[in-house]
Amino acid sequence: METRGTTDSRVRQSVGGSDKGAIGYIGQYPVSRQSCPPCRTLNPRVLPPPPPVPPPRSAEETQPFTPPHTTLSIRPLPNRTPAQAMNNTPFVMPDPESMVGLPTKANENPHNHTSQPDPNPTVMPDGDNLSVPFTFAIFPRIVIPFGALTQNMAEAQVEAIKADPGKFLAVIPHGAGKQFYERNPHANREAKAFIESFGSTEISITGIDIALPISHHKAKRDFDGPWPMILSGASPELAAFLKWHQTFSVNRRLTFHVVPFDLELESWVIMTISGDAVRDTPEAKRKVLGEIKRKLWKDTHFHNFCNSVLSAAQVPGSLAQRVVHATNTFDLTFVQTQDSAGVDTPLFLLTGKPITKDAALHRQWLAMIRGIPKGYVVDMHALIIDKRWVDCVWCKNKIHPAHGCPFDKVAGWLGPRGRVVVTTGAAATVIAATTMTTVIAVVVGTEAARTATGTMTVGPL
Ligand SMILES: [Zn+2]
Repeated sequence: METRGTTDSRVRQSVGGSDKGAIGYIGQYPVSRQSCPPCRTLNPRVLPPPPPVPPPRSAEETQPFTPPHTTLSIRPLPNRTPAQAMNNTPFVMPDPESMVGLPTKANENPHNHTSQPDPNPTVMPDGDNLSVPFTFAIFPRIVIPFGALTQNMAEAQVEAIKADPGKFLAVIPHGAGKQFYERNPHANREAKAFIESFGSTEISITGIDIALPISHHKAKRDFDGPWPMILSGASPELAAFLKWHQTFSVNRRLTFHVVPFDLELESWVIMTISGDAVRDTPEAKRKVLGEIKRKLWKDTHFHNFCNSVLSAAQVPGSLAQRVVHATNTFDLTFVQTQDSAGVDTPLFLLTGKPITKDAALHRQWLAMIRGIPKGYVVDMHALIIDKRWVDCVWCKNKIHPAHGCPFDKVAGWLGPRGRVVVTTGAAATVIAATTMTTVIAVVVGTEAARTATGTMTVGPL
């Protein structure tokens, strides 16, 4: 506005005769009588020099522009997650075989945990005055989801535990199952007497009780559940110590694990992988895990499933970022096993953090990973999914076979030991020798063999 006013003023001044010889202005340049009238172009020889550069504007004049208030409606920006808003660079899918910074959340993997976690309980039994010695050592954590822990247990017991899980503790004999309880019909009394030996002025043992599990149907196999005895009435101090120590190895008949009935506990085991691509090398692990991620990242159903579940859980990121997030916790563990003929049949155990606590959705997630269309292939070798399995009959963990159970390898172990005999299906043989006192179970076999009858044997100590 100021510039236009200045020009108009100059025009008025020229018309008034203040610029001698000028007959008008074109823009800010004066038109003289020496300009060419016919073509109306300016004669460059008579053009005045360009106007001087205006001096810098004052600070007041350079105030930021403030738009006038308006009643116009402004369309809101699309909803973006904080990560998207902060980082507008396109997300680039990582190399599926890269293990840099992976797996994430490994410290949350319950299968990596141990007994005696920090912090120690505030009150512990006096070790110098224990009437019954036991192994005081750190053991792997017992990870048994609630459904597996209470399988085959009578509804009356399960419903009571579900109604108030904090009221009870599970006491799981090492090697529990039908046969254990047949051989030890008073295991609950022995366990109760042992636990009462922890009583002191600081640890109350008054009112504790241990019930044997009730089966809702007749168990078929020797290691079928229900497994846990049910401890009630424990004082807070006693319960805290029992859960912290977890594994009490007293003798071959009396060795058990104490765990809470935790309805939230989830297994991170996804599937087993066998086949000729499975080898105990970092390269094999990298290739197999890379193939699994590569196929999953390209699968539309898996993409949409992860995006839907993680979006509901308010996990930030785009669709691609969420599918990568869902697989960042994936890890492989090499497990050496043998088949029924004694031939080495190594496995990879794939673990990963569940992306949902909804059991039905979790099963869908597992089914998608296990049943990827067209399967997984590494170096022309098919990855064989869940044809073989690992299932420890001793501690009930599903990350190692019984012959690889680490519990009886711990220094000072006083519990049962046994020789493992691998046998499947029709080849299963029960060597019920009376001189053999410890049950050794089939720990590796096909799914068909697991559902067959009597896949167990008995071996000497
Ligand atoms: Zn085990």
